Amino acid sequence: MNDCIFCKIVSGEIPCNLVYQDDKIMAFKDINPLAPVHILIISKQHIESAHVLNEGNSQIAAHIFEKIPNIAREASLAESGYRVITNIGKDAGQAVPHLHFHLLGGRKLEIGLG
Ligand code: 5GP
Ligand code: ZN
Repeated sequence: MNDCIFCKIVSGEIPCNLVYQDDKIMAFKDINPLAPVHILIISKQHIESAHVLNEGNSQIAAHIFEKIPNIAREASLAESGYRVITNIGKDAGQAVPHLHFHLLGGRKLEIGLG
């Protein structure tokens, strides 16, 4: 997608603070962290959100969740715990319409769904 910020990060047009990548996904630090650890894990392929996952493309979500434990471990969150969030659409406040999961930790997170 031409004007998608995360596609530009995938292509290298916009720099990022990379934490992990492979052929399918990238993980990098959020530019505006809401916790001591705030990592975004994105698909390299442009997928609008988790709302358009289906039998044909859901393997990417499985792949992301397979990699999350190691990304969390590397960020020293294995003992303390962490939260994984994906926002979908307007009411959830999804600002970037490209599939991504927030990995948050490093402090006690508020309980609640906003
Ligand atoms: P959303 O609200 O769509 O779930 O989350 C988008 C996230 O992307 C926000 O937390 C925002 O801070 C982050 N973000 C937006 N633009 C950039 C960028 O250019 N670089 C990085 N590293 N994070 C970004
Ligand atoms: Zn994109």
